[in-house]
Amino acid sequence: MSAPLAPDATIVVVGASLAGLRAAEEIRHEHHEGAVIIVGDEPHAPYDRPPLSKQLLSGKWDVERIHHHAPDALDLLDLEFRLGRTATGLDMGNRTLALSDGSTLAFDGLVIATGAATRKLPGTEGMPGVWTLRTLDDALAIKAGLEAAGPGPRLVVIGAGFIGAEVAATGHGLGAAVTVLEAHHTPLSRVLGDEIGQVCADLHAANGVALRCSVTIDHLESDPGGPDPVTVVLDTGERIAADVVVVGIGVEPCTGWLEGSGLTVDNGVVCDGALVAGEGVVAAGDVARWLRPTTGALTRVEHWTNAAEGGAHAARNLLAGSLAAVPFDPVPFFWSDQYAAKIQMIGLPGPDDEVVVVSGSGHEGKMVALYRSGDRLSAVFTISQPRQLMLYRPLLAAGASFDEALAQSGS
Ligand code: FAD
Ligand code: NAP
Repeated sequence: MSAPLAPDATIVVVGASLAGLRAAEEIRHEHHEGAVIIVGDEPHAPYDRPPLSKQLLSGKWDVERIHHHAPDALDLLDLEFRLGRTATGLDMGNRTLALSDGSTLAFDGLVIATGAATRKLPGTEGMPGVWTLRTLDDALAIKAGLEAAGPGPRLVVIGAGFIGAEVAATGHGLGAAVTVLEAHHTPLSRVLGDEIGQVCADLHAANGVALRCSVTIDHLESDPGGPDPVTVVLDTGERIAADVVVVGIGVEPCTGWLEGSGLTVDNGVVCDGALVAGEGVVAAGDVARWLRPTTGALTRVEHWTNAAEGGAHAARNLLAGSLAAVPFDPVPFFWSDQYAAKIQMIGLPGPDDEVVVVSGSGHEGKMVALYRSGDRLSAVFTISQPRQLMLYRPLLAAGASFDEALAQSGS
């Protein structure tokens, strides 16, 4: 049990991105007077990741536009940034953090917001022409790689998840000849199920992007300066030449620095329903795996709104102390822009949920589909129907039945 934090308590936030910044902002909005120190291993002031695969990669936006705050607005929050430094260890007994520059930071309250890092294809790390996409530096390097290849570059994307689909769509918009290679038989089926995964697959085909599912990559070869700078070799022996390869095969939560700390780490920082991970320690965003009140299951969500809402929520609970902590039970939401389609989902479907399309279709470019778990509505998926989507939000928040949702749809 932790008591409310004293008004002058020092709070350290590890992770200078969305969840961490929202936590720090909330701490100040709650009028906390003590020091708030943000440690981040990237050299940049906090910036937003969604535009990296969309507006920044396409060149529609420049780097200044993706920062969360103008520098003077950040100054108003009176936060102390330690950027370009990695937290390397946590000593819960002494309530200190070890940093990569050899320094030690003492804290009264701690927010863990270290997010996730990209999975790498074995043997490809540092290979010229091959990138994963998580950071601003990654996005700028991919953009430069595409530009350097000249008109109509050959872009091969490995993994047809969110990164893969968005990079493929943006690359296509830039005039690249895009091939997407996916291990599974349908893209995004782990998140959306096979039926809606197929709708997403059809989007690639409809836009002239070659999506190849159920393929296994054997290895990649690099020949910088040669006619085929990168070659992707499949297990069948087939060779696919590329100027640029982007690997989007998922992420792992950044928890290595917590080893030996005594906090429970298991596919993320394990938290209770209020995002409390330990005495005076909360976690939020992609790194947090919390006991989701709606389902009672440990859940980790890798989307923007969860990090933004979770960061603020965790901060309030840290200040209040664990006895007054409020459960975190949002209606999950994400969006993904692919080609002309604005994909959105609220709720979190289970793998066995039934899907009922209540209006439109992928081919029409407008669609609403409901997910049914038993007699309940579990999620709603839409393409380019943002207002329709939001009509279902109150139903999901109230745990409405599937029949109520169907009645609302008019089906
Ligand atoms: P992160 O943003 O990962 O930030 C964690 C920070 O902590 C990073 O800066 C990391 O370097 C730092 N860090 C890690 N370990 C340490 C350490 N030991 N010491 C110090 N610092 C450390 N979501 C959507 O809903 N819609 C979208 O359209 C969308 N588009 C996306 C596009 C891209 C290209 C990417 C990469 C993600 C996208 N997302 C989208 C997901 C969304 O951006 C993430 O869910 C969100 O960024 C998570 O925020 P976070 O603060 O939890 O973690
Ligand atoms: P992802 O959504 O988990 O998708 C990875 C995809 O790659 C999955 O379809 C996966 O299949 C496949 N895959 C795994 N190993 C492979 C291999 N060896 N060869 C070919 N395919 C392989 O992860 P991501 O697209 O890399 O995105 C990374 C993170 O950024 C996620 O947290 C994501 O939520 C976030 N993001 C979100 C958005 C958004 O919400 N709009 C946009 C961009 C990024 P299996 O499922 O079968 O493993």
